[in-house]
Amino acid sequence: SAPSYILSLRRNSPWSDSVTALIDSATGRHLSYAEFIHRSETLASNLASLFALSKYDTALILSPNLLHVPILHFALLSLGVVVSPTNPLATRSELTRIIRLSKPTIAFATSAVVNKLPDEFRHGTVLIDSPEFESLITASRPGAKPERVEVSQSDVAAILYSSGTTGKVKGVMLTHRNLTAMAGAYDVFRAQREKPAVFLYTMPFFHVFGFTLSLRAVVLLETVVLMERFGLRRAVEAIERFRVTHIAGVPSMLVAMIKDDVTAAYDLSSLECVACGGAPLGKDTAAAFKSKFPKVLVLQGYGLTESTAGVARTSNPEETSRCSTTGKLMPGVEAKIVNPHTGQPMFPAEQGELWLRGPSIMKGYVGDPEATSATLVDGWLKTGDLCYFDHDGFLYVLDRFKDLIKYKGYQVAPAELEELLHSHLEINDAAVIPYPDEEAGQVPMAFVVRKPQSSLHEAEIIDFVAKQVAPYKKIRRVIFVDSIPKNAAGKILRKDLNTIALERSISRL
Ligand code: ATP
Repeated sequence: SAPSYILSLRRNSPWSDSVTALIDSATGRHLSYAEFIHRSETLASNLASLFALSKYDTALILSPNLLHVPILHFALLSLGVVVSPTNPLATRSELTRIIRLSKPTIAFATSAVVNKLPDEFRHGTVLIDSPEFESLITASRPGAKPERVEVSQSDVAAILYSSGTTGKVKGVMLTHRNLTAMAGAYDVFRAQREKPAVFLYTMPFFHVFGFTLSLRAVVLLETVVLMERFGLRRAVEAIERFRVTHIAGVPSMLVAMIKDDVTAAYDLSSLECVACGGAPLGKDTAAAFKSKFPKVLVLQGYGLTESTAGVARTSNPEETSRCSTTGKLMPGVEAKIVNPHTGQPMFPAEQGELWLRGPSIMKGYVGDPEATSATLVDGWLKTGDLCYFDHDGFLYVLDRFKDLIKYKGYQVAPAELEELLHSHLEINDAAVIPYPDEEAGQVPMAFVVRKPQSSLHEAEIIDFVAKQVAPYKKIRRVIFVDSIPKNAAGKILRKDLNTIALERSISRL
């Protein structure tokens, strides 16, 4: 047992408590570090006494990125309560599954979504956007002392749900060790800055990327600017208004910043760095971003919910421009490339499935021992990603095995074709999926969002790609759509594209 939760890591920080911890971009409301710490301690003490919350309870949180949410995360972690942030847009049936898996004893929700929840929580449901919650955060009871609960490093600290872009939602159990390992690994890369970085968070707190960044920011004492939801105009307004220096986001956000002219109307000169992850960032996208925003450093990171976010990242622009690498492994992370069919190790330079081991690898899937033993083998996490390392130890992530298009004997990575489509000047967004074909098994089918007024047609797109790829990778069919369905973390919802493809082919009959 150790007196350890992630907040204790911040003691060595050089920054003072007067630094701003959190800013709500919509209201401009902000909190200093001293206020942040005080409020999370007050909240922890109130939750323990009023709701009898204690170690091993699980708290479901259903909220957009509000100012109160990181305070709640830290209050719960300090009580040893398992934090379970969940997408407020989850459907009732997804919520039913999530509740069945993780068995929360209390729920925290905003008034807009609280009606989706059943009444069955032992400690009840608390409205995050109510005056009562505000007083739980601010009103210390006379004589109350900060709660200090001893937790073991192997105790579960958080349950995060994979977004289910490809299958059923799974609850990933992350331990206190996983969270401290994540924060420690990032700490190594802390920039030597005169002033704290000002981070704009475009990622939701219920996604591993947003969740770990919010913890990391408190450990590293950076200023966090919150957005309830990502929107390009709102993001550039926030960059100008709060002199944002860093953005953490996904490649589709970079694509929007490249393609949309709204950026020209704002002063973005404070921006120093965009840290991008969650999906492949092609070198053409990185290069186009660099030519539009030459002063901004683009870094790429790779990770999964199951690895507590980042396990590899680039650390300078040369590495990012190095043919789409996701960088080198973070300290403490071990990796091997494995033949996905035989389970035998391969040479790192061969393409195979990436397996990972280390202190940031999850404990397992909650309530799902079968999925756990299929994914964790002797401490190794099977990532399901097709990867290889170059001779200098840089990792390349080509795509997910389950997304690959099987054309005759070949495998085609949708990510490569999507990157080519994004480079077309008349295309605003694109996605590629496998489409059943009698002769070839599967062929690549593209979904394309044209720029307004563009009259680009199917044959031109097919030809544009065909000129740049081997014949087996050619796109065979194009469907024009108004937008590409994506989840809250910016990932393409391939299940929804399959449905659109099916509907369109039925309507063609
Ligand atoms: P589900 O597994 O249910 O679809 P999800 O997609 O939300 O949920 P995450 O843990 O968010 O699951 O995503 C992890 C995956 O994202 C990785 O396995 C990998 O395929 C992809 N990924 C993350 N970062 C990168 C990157 N830099 N380059 C390429 N792919 C990446």
